Amino acid sequence: MKILAFDIGGTNIKYALVSGKFKLSDKHEIPTEAELGGQHIINKIKSIISEYKDIDRIAISTAGQVDSENGIVVYSTDNIPYYTGMMVKRIIENEFSIPTYVENDVNAAAMGEAVFGAAKNDSDFLSLTFGTGVGGAIYINNNLYKGSVSSAGEFGHMITHAGGKQCTCGGEGCYECYASTKALIDSVKRSTGLEMNGREIFAENNFNKPEIRSEIDKWIDEIIAGLINIIYIFNPPKIVLGGGIMNESYIIDLIDRKIYNKLMDNYKNVNIVQSKLGNDAGMLGVAYLSSKI
Ligand SMILES: [Zn+2]
Repeated sequence: MKILAFDIGGTNIKYALVSGKFKLSDKHEIPTEAELGGQHIINKIKSIISEYKDIDRIAISTAGQVDSENGIVVYSTDNIPYYTGMMVKRIIENEFSIPTYVENDVNAAAMGEAVFGAAKNDSDFLSLTFGTGVGGAIYINNNLYKGSVSSAGEFGHMITHAGGKQCTCGGEGCYECYASTKALIDSVKRSTGLEMNGREIFAENNFNKPEIRSEIDKWIDEIIAGLINIIYIFNPPKIVLGGGIMNESYIIDLIDRKIYNKLMDNYKNVNIVQSKLGNDAGMLGVAYLSSKI
C-alpha cells in the first residue's frame, strides 16, 4: 500500500509518502499560509496530490476539530479562517477517486504514538501537544475518544485563570494562554524585550540567564497546573507530551521533579513521557488510520 500523508498545521504543511510498513519517505514541508483560508489550503493539497501516481490512500492530519467519519472540519479557530465546515474527504475523493481519511492533528499524533511510539502497548493514555496552542487527545480502551461532536480533549481551553488573558477561542484565561510555547515566547519577550523562538530560548547562553530561566520555570508551573487538573479527571496511567519544545529534556525533568509532590498519593502512578515520533507522529497516525478503511 502506498499512502500520501499530510500534516496541516497553522504554520507549515508537511507531507510524505508512507509505505505499507509505515516508513516515511519523500518528506516535504511548505508554508500553510493559513491566513489565506481553508480553501487555499485545500487547493495546495490538491495540487500536491496531482503530482503523485499510484497512491492507494490519502491521509490528512489537520489542525481544527474533525469529524473523521465524514472527513469534515467541524470547527476551526480564526487561526485558519473559513476552514470550519470544509468537507475535506468529499472534495479530495471526488477529484482523485482515492479513499481519503481525515483526522485532527493531535488525535492523529496520539494514534501514531499508540501504534508506533511512546504509548505502544498502552491501552489508555492522554496526550498533549505544545505549540501555538495546547492540543489534547484522549485514548481509552485502545481507541481515540472523540466525544459527542468529535471535539473531546481540548485541554488547551480548560480555564486555568478565571477572567485571565483573552484566548483565540473567545474565552478568557484558557490553559494555552499560559502553557503553550507561544505563551513562553511572549513572556520572555515581555520580560527581556527579546523576540526568540522556543529553540533560541533554550539555547545555552539564553537558558542560563536568570531572567529567562525564571520565565521558563513559571511557564513549567503553568504546564504542571493543567496536567494536575486532567490527572484528577482521568486518573491516567500515562501522559505523552509532544510538540517541538518538549525535546528540551529540562522541561520533562522539572515536571517530573515537581508534579509528584503536588498530586494526591493515589494518582502518583502516572507516567509522564516525551513523544517518541516527534514531527512524524501525525502523518504516521493518520496513515495508519487510512490503511484501515
Ligand atoms: Zn481558549
